[in-house]
Amino acid sequence: MRHVDLERLTLIAIGDLTETFEDTDHLRECAACAQELRALRDVAALGRETRHERHLQSPSESVWERIAAETGQDGEPAATPPPVVPSPTRRRPGPRLLAVAAAAAVLGAGGAVAVNLAAMPRPLPEPAEQVIARADLDRLPSAPQSADGEARVVRTGDRVVLRLRMDGMPAPEGLYQIWLYDGADTMIPLGVLTGGQADVAVPDSIDLADYPIVDVSAQRLGQQEHGVSMLQGNLT
Ligand SMILES: [Zn+2]
Repeated sequence: MRHVDLERLTLIAIGDLTETFEDTDHLRECAACAQELRALRDVAALGRETRHERHLQSPSESVWERIAAETGQDGEPAATPPPVVPSPTRRRPGPRLLAVAAAAAVLGAGGAVAVNLAAMPRPLPEPAEQVIARADLDRLPSAPQSADGEARVVRTGDRVVLRLRMDGMPAPEGLYQIWLYDGADTMIPLGVLTGGQADVAVPDSIDLADYPIVDVSAQRLGQQEHGVSMLQGNLT
């Protein structure tokens, strides 16, 4: 199993990077990576809380204690220790946790500059992503046998996006377009799918209960009306 690398996890934790499908799938399956991301988010939150400290050189003991608590490495060993937790030491952080601390220190230092220069109010923590609907996309007769896809509707703060992945399709002659379909006579274009994956915004005005079908069509360049459906699936 290929883990999400630490740099990538750190960027996700501090909100500089959005999880891809592969990340989300892996984090659901892999307890070690999920646990590490939770620890990183905890440290990132501490970094934001402590940004008023001007000379933050290294995380305090309480940071280590919280990391230890997050990763189950405190005090007594857990009854069923998680399979892939890196360092078994109790008081001394392992190299991966040191990298986490470095990220926290950078956050703290950067935050201090921002506060000193601009007297910015403390930002709210990054909103967590919430999957509110999903759909397996099935190939339609015009698509090759290998075609396959998946869509998720994700809420981040007050934004709602449709995150779509499509595999096994040839490069389009024109382009692939993502639509929401009411199942009767109305299709709403949401955006273009490039490179097999896209995040497209779902406007507030659209009630997904009225448009429960996700459709991916092949379009000629410049074609306004709906083209040829390649994949479709029902949001649940
Ligand atoms: Zn992993």
